[in-house]
Amino acid sequence: MPKVAFTTLGCKVNQFETEAMEGLFKARGYEVVAFDQPADVYVVNTCSVTHLGERKSRQLIRRAVRTAPGATVVVTGCYAQVSPGEVEAIEGVDVIVGTQDRQRIVDLAEEAAASRRQVRAVGDIMAAAEFEDIPLLAAPGRTRAFLKIQEGCANFCTYCIIPYARGPLRSRPLASIGREAAKFVAAGFQEIVLTGIHLGAYGQDLGGAATLTDAVKTVLAVPGVARVRLGSLESIEVSDGLIALMHEDERLCPHLHLPLQAGDDAVLAAMNRHYTTAGYRELVRGIQSRVPDIAITTDIIVGFPGETAEQFANTLAFAAGMDFARIHVFPYSRRKGTPAAAFPGQVAEGEKKRRAGALQELADRQAAAFHERFVGRELAVLFEPAAGGGVEGLTGNYLRVYVDGDRGLARQLRRVRLQGLHRDGLWGEIAD
Ligand code: SF4
Repeated sequence: MPKVAFTTLGCKVNQFETEAMEGLFKARGYEVVAFDQPADVYVVNTCSVTHLGERKSRQLIRRAVRTAPGATVVVTGCYAQVSPGEVEAIEGVDVIVGTQDRQRIVDLAEEAAASRRQVRAVGDIMAAAEFEDIPLLAAPGRTRAFLKIQEGCANFCTYCIIPYARGPLRSRPLASIGREAAKFVAAGFQEIVLTGIHLGAYGQDLGGAATLTDAVKTVLAVPGVARVRLGSLESIEVSDGLIALMHEDERLCPHLHLPLQAGDDAVLAAMNRHYTTAGYRELVRGIQSRVPDIAITTDIIVGFPGETAEQFANTLAFAAGMDFARIHVFPYSRRKGTPAAAFPGQVAEGEKKRRAGALQELADRQAAAFHERFVGRELAVLFEPAAGGGVEGLTGNYLRVYVDGDRGLARQLRRVRLQGLHRDGLWGEIAD
């Protein structure tokens, strides 16, 4: 039986696509092995969101070439889409596939193996019109299932390479969403995470035939679905309908990841973000008043070109007033091909680091304060195997919970009485 090994960088969309590609190889009789094992084919699913993502992609490609010199090395994902020439030039790469045509990945790998010639299948992503519906042929070995329902982005934030890697908006049809969700339930998954490149824009390319709320309702209507979680959303795309659904149906996790990116209006405008700090605050306050225990998590970029010390102080002050459950801090990463890469006032790396440190301190305080609010409460936790043995789990509102229990608890949704802060989460006791 031929062997194939995968490694994946980046976001939940990439994770989902790797699982779909694993299914395609398995359906053709391949055995999936770990990336450090000998294999006939290696697939590196790359990321281009930061220069670090690209550097790690190159390192993993070279590792695949070194591990089994005669094997077929396939490089796919965002880095392959935006910089195919750079990938092509790496010694030992046999197949370059962008962010489309993954349906053909097994054929392309076998074509390269047979011809011993490099195969390049990187299309014009800006011309992409259809959502590439790769059916899931094999259930991923995790506790929470990622379901990609949307592709592409048309926002063109000035720091972001993604629209150039992923192309225009494309949505998975509702029928396909229901079908794939049913497969996950049949495979024993309790939680389905809906994900996309620009999830909040779901349906905008379907001529108003469907919205994100319709997609969520489609999954909730599948018998046996215990939880639905939403991937990252643009704040301005959170509809009243979605919040009403979150209020009505507790299976829709009270957790929204709403990237803020900056707490200063002039910086937001330079980023081409389509909201103001006042608008963002009002929206979040409204959501928090309607869904009391909700976790609002966010991303903030520090050191955006031209960001002054005063503007960064505005970001710190704004974030301090927001009760975020978690803040992901990103030092600005200059991306070749994006408008901001050519902006004046590039911030020195040392200063970016200082700003990231100051914001991280605030982030840690806010996360602890958010967790503290739930000590003494009883919440439902979905358990998964922990890396070091035993189990840990997540509540609907994204609290990480640790209990004294064995792996038998994995994939179970149980009530837990939360007792105190522990590591990056809370300690608790099974209450049911
Ligand atoms: S919304 Fe902005 S940050 Fe998000 S993928 Fe699109 S361009 Fe990038």
